[in-house]
Amino acid sequence: MAKPKTWTAHRDAVRIVPLHYPKPGYSIDQLATAQSVAGSNDPYDGKLHFATANAHLSYRGGPLLTRPQVQVVYWGGTWQSSASAQSLMHGLDQFFRDILVSPLMDQLAEYSVGAKRMGHGKFIGSLVRSDHAPQGSVTDSAVRSQLQRWIKAAALAKTGAQTLYFIFLEPGIISIMGGSRSCQNYCGYHNAAGRMYYALMPYPSCAGCLGGMSVLDALTATSSHELCEAITDPVPGTGWYDDNNGEIGDICAWQFRKLGAHTVQLEWSNAQRRCV
Ligand SMILES: [Zn+2]
Repeated sequence: MAKPKTWTAHRDAVRIVPLHYPKPGYSIDQLATAQSVAGSNDPYDGKLHFATANAHLSYRGGPLLTRPQVQVVYWGGTWQSSASAQSLMHGLDQFFRDILVSPLMDQLAEYSVGAKRMGHGKFIGSLVRSDHAPQGSVTDSAVRSQLQRWIKAAALAKTGAQTLYFIFLEPGIISIMGGSRSCQNYCGYHNAAGRMYYALMPYPSCAGCLGGMSVLDALTATSSHELCEAITDPVPGTGWYDDNNGEIGDICAWQFRKLGAHTVQLEWSNAQRRCV
């Protein structure tokens, strides 16, 4: 049977971490304490440019992850065989363990809606899977299919209303989504397949996704971007969204701070009209 015609035009919502471009000329510490450049609107002048104060997220009525339950998958055989991968996985696990009960979650309270009160989440755990590991590249639909396979086989936590899967790719694997590619167009994304919410984080192996940081810092920074977006806009474009500036993290992309030991990205605050 032919698919029924639908007249609802869905704009492709922003759901990615964009590449850092041009190359960063600032350290994380400088970025954390920098002031916005007053009176300059030339984005190529080599100075820091902060989000315009007229950015504003509005709620579109969709689901929110008020108590995000994060399950991490390290996908590919080299996660298991490499010694440096062990410390990277350890660092990322610790990041999720800490971040989901951190002030960063409290900060999102202003995006509570009615009975949907933003609160702390939980790190379910992580595991390495090498089955159907991508070779060369992996499309978004292949990611979804594999997630569904794992869930069906009970390898992963069952999908609940608050479940968020984070998949980390091994080095050398390019992610492809909607004609865009990791390290060319983006550094990670989050998405939804029905009520299955997930984020895909390629290994940052280009300057545009490392932004002058270590691999761990680059991954926690971009993961915090996707985490906050998956919380406030799990089905891209249907939660808290700004038609001109995208999701909560897009407005503040590549502005960082330290949260405990972890590098995280600033997030847009409607209430304070700035990145915090
Ligand atoms: Zn984003």
